[in-house]
Amino acid sequence: MPTFNFDLCELPSEAQSLRAEVREFLREALGGASSSKRALSWGGFDREFSRRLGARGWIGMMWPKKYGGHERTALERYVVLEECLAAGAPVSAHWVADRQSGPLLLRFGTEEQRQRFLPRIAKGELAFAIGMSEPDSGSDLASIRTRAEHVEGGYRVNGTKIWTSNAHISDYAISLFRTKVVPDKKHEGLSQFLVDLKSPGIRIRPIIDLAGGHHFNEVHFENAFVPDDMLVGKEGEGWRQVSTELAFERSGPERYLSSIRLIMELIREAGREPGERAAVVIGRLTAHLITLRQMSLSVAGMLQAGQNPNLEAAVVKDVGTGFEQEIPETVHALLGVEPRLGSGSQFERTLGYLVQHAPSFSLRGGTREVLRGIIARGLGLR
Ligand SMILES: Cc1cc2nc3c(=O)[nH]c(=O)nc-3n(C[C@H](O)[C@H](O)[C@H](O)COP(=O)(O)OP(=O)(O)OC[C@H]3O[C@@H](n4cnc5c(N)ncnc54)[C@H](O)[C@@H]3O)c2cc1C
Repeated sequence: MPTFNFDLCELPSEAQSLRAEVREFLREALGGASSSKRALSWGGFDREFSRRLGARGWIGMMWPKKYGGHERTALERYVVLEECLAAGAPVSAHWVADRQSGPLLLRFGTEEQRQRFLPRIAKGELAFAIGMSEPDSGSDLASIRTRAEHVEGGYRVNGTKIWTSNAHISDYAISLFRTKVVPDKKHEGLSQFLVDLKSPGIRIRPIIDLAGGHHFNEVHFENAFVPDDMLVGKEGEGWRQVSTELAFERSGPERYLSSIRLIMELIREAGREPGERAAVVIGRLTAHLITLRQMSLSVAGMLQAGQNPNLEAAVVKDVGTGFEQEIPETVHALLGVEPRLGSGSQFERTLGYLVQHAPSFSLRGGTREVLRGIIARGLGLR
């Protein structure tokens, strides 16, 4: 029977010196940013910060130099991600492009697309959104209905995408459309496109979340035109390609570090001589954190070795999101701190933000149930 494989992976010495460099940069770049601001984690959007990170060579780190990349290792990239998340840096303006849109173009894009987009992504100049989910298609992504019909010189698109994070402040969205209806074969006839979000025929409507924030959108396509040269990969190969993209989306340390700010606040609040209960809770959280980090690092090591750790990445996301989801409740139960939004101490506001957002951690990037289905299939159980 197939099983998990989490080999121990040590960071090489060049990764350790890089860590010191990144920490120093973040200390200066983030200055006195408040805890509640840092709690936004990879949700914070700041184009200027992304440009500065790009100028240091820390976006597109593994990509070939001829496309503006830096030919560094997966483990070095891991260090940069980890430090940014631990510091609560506002990485969202380049996160999706660095993590999945860029690697997707590198694998399936045309030479022209790579030359046009990758160097600008690596400089931190282009923000990408993800145009997958639709009002009736989330977990069952293959059931999407937004149609792209071939017309002279390109495609005419009609339909609606939903939950499109940051579409209103991004430049492009890699989007999945149906280019052909194949009866009883929903995985066929799908294609991916680079969509310029400023194109005529695209209307972006905000969806305000429970915490009053605007990062979700509904994106309506009404006879929007997407030129032929914006097709990514082959027409009809969208399902295979999007599965690769989802594996990029699921494998990083952001899948267990979203509540890290709260652990730091807890340690600060407990002080140098925590009471017994606090010491037990901090010890337990730290032990879980270190174990998850080792598992996640092991996935990065497998990627570096050219392996395909889809199964292990799904395990890290499932266990990791469970961990980051529990932290707000654990801290609340231990200290009795009240979650607050907009007013109150930094601790209360950090807790307030994370209490509101934690339920979404196991939804974004594929729900817990869907991941467990993938894990069961990987283990040969279904
Ligand atoms: C914070 C956040 C950001 C997001 N950003 C984006 C984005 O930028 N772009 C984008 O395209 N989408 C985005 N999404 C959408 C996300 O991908 C979907 O919410 C997710 O795939 C689930 O789809 P759904 O909401 O339609 O729920 P459904 O698929 O309807 O699922 C409802 C419930 O049923 C369960 N379920 C469904 N199918 C099965 C099954 N076969 N077996 C067992 N249980 C099942 C699910 O696990 C879930 O609990 C985002 C979501 C969140 C929360």
